[in-house]
Amino acid sequence: MARKYLLYLARWQLSTPILAICVAMLMARVGATWSTVVANFIGGLIFFWVDRWIFRNSAMLAGELWEAQVNVVCADCGADVDKGYRLVKARGYDKTSDRQPQFRCHECSSAKYQRDHGGGEAGAGV
Ligand SMILES: [Zn+2]
Repeated sequence: MARKYLLYLARWQLSTPILAICVAMLMARVGATWSTVVANFIGGLIFFWVDRWIFRNSAMLAGELWEAQVNVVCADCGADVDKGYRLVKARGYDKTSDRQPQFRCHECSSAKYQRDHGGGEAGAGV
């Protein structure tokens, strides 16, 4: 959640240059309000597509099914952790009938997710 929040804050900062340039260029001619209106219009034209891409990729992550279990010994590093995670289902991956499910600590779970499913954020921050 914290990583998503930071990503979202970073995304908001991307509109800063557009706002700054528009205000700097138009302020003297049309004033603060109208230069902001123009900046938001340009930002909207660009970030409609950026946000659409972000939400589409988040939806893919949401389509995954994760299982959490309390008091787990991590299958990778052997640490005793309060909560362990495993990916049960994703695109092209189905461990719903796994007889010996392996749970991992947050770090190992994220690392395995990066290895097996490449990039993106592990849904282990539940
Ligand atoms: Zn571990």
